[in-house]
Amino acid sequence: MSKKTVKDLRGFAGTHVFVRVDYNVPLEDGRITDETRIRASLPTLEYLIKGGARLVLASHLGRPKKGPTPELSLGPVAVRLGELLHREVKVASDCVGDDVRKQAEALKDGGVLLLENVRFHPEEEKNDPAFARRLALDTRSTVFVNDAFGSAHRAHASTEGVAHHVKRALAGLLMEKEIRYLDMAVHPKERPLVAALGGAKVSDKIQVIEALLERVDALLVGGGMAYTFFRAKGFPTGKSLVEEDKVPLAAELLKKGTGKIVLPVDHVVASKFAADAEHRELPAQEVPDGWMGLDIGPITRRAYAERLRAAKVVVWNGPMGVFEMKPFAEGTLAIARAMADSKAVTIVGGGDSVAAVTQMGLADKIDHVSTGGGASLEFLAGETLPGVACLEEA
Ligand code: ADP
Ligand code: MG
Repeated sequence: MSKKTVKDLRGFAGTHVFVRVDYNVPLEDGRITDETRIRASLPTLEYLIKGGARLVLASHLGRPKKGPTPELSLGPVAVRLGELLHREVKVASDCVGDDVRKQAEALKDGGVLLLENVRFHPEEEKNDPAFARRLALDTRSTVFVNDAFGSAHRAHASTEGVAHHVKRALAGLLMEKEIRYLDMAVHPKERPLVAALGGAKVSDKIQVIEALLERVDALLVGGGMAYTFFRAKGFPTGKSLVEEDKVPLAAELLKKGTGKIVLPVDHVVASKFAADAEHRELPAQEVPDGWMGLDIGPITRRAYAERLRAAKVVVWNGPMGVFEMKPFAEGTLAIARAMADSKAVTIVGGGDSVAAVTQMGLADKIDHVSTGGGASLEFLAGETLPGVACLEEA
């Protein structure tokens, strides 16, 4: 799958371009605590500014319940964005209406206007067509650029609806990179394609497991979800995280994925779910009564790392253990290191897995660290994302 991007736009000086960005940043007392998402939007914005576009930026921030919520204003983002772009970023008091129209009309070539939180209007999440039309009309925009991959799995007015009220609908550069890399795991051109899948539960990832099973050469399982598979194999699991109602499904997946699904051969078991718990490395078939498995063991780490090294494409979602607690972080660290050292094309998706590689300082050594947790999972599950589907095919 490939989409037309901002690079396919010619002679756009003076054109109003509506860019959907993902500025859903964490805030503490009005201060931005992580500006990764703002920085991630800069390549697209700088490219458009250089060509003389008049930029109208839209994003959501948090989940405002009833209309305008001052704590969820994009004002602080406009300030930081202005510093990063080295130019003035005007912030509108709303995302539609007369004021917005006036501010959009006043934009000069290369000027930037950040609209206020689109979710201050309930019509945004309803993908209300009249509202979507106003987003385009009131901002004078004739081009829609979607660079908010993290919101592309939602059909909202600013992520999908607005595309139907402009002349052109294109991918931003961040969106293009997300699609290009994640697509390598969905439509592999090189093999072996190896997936490492962990995290808490099987139920969160059923669609991804099923979709990946059809495409990968090996699926390395870790994390809490391994225990539902262990139960399906008849291993004792103690107090490990097991989803009883998913045991039959796990058994079915094991049958379907014979030779492809790889389970841990050893694990780290603990007396309780705590960083100071007593813990031991044991074969996967062993769990002392009342104990629980919280990480993959050293033999498994080496075996998985070896598989990742031999692969051409690697996709990883979900931590291999409870990496938030130091004694159970080694499995996740081993996978992160193996990916960083691997010559394969390496892709990481999923909120906690991305947090883990970032925290471990290895994000720079991975080819693609996805910015979209839920969106990347849906993409890997082979689903069509509405915010991608509405963009022009290349
Ligand atoms: P992602 O956000 O990358 O998709 P998930 O949300 O599915 O990942 O899972 C992340 C969580 O899984 C982490 O908080 C981690 O502590 C937990 N986890 C990993 N291994 C285990 C385990 N063996 N038992 C319980 N929880 C686990
Ligand atoms: Mg998560």
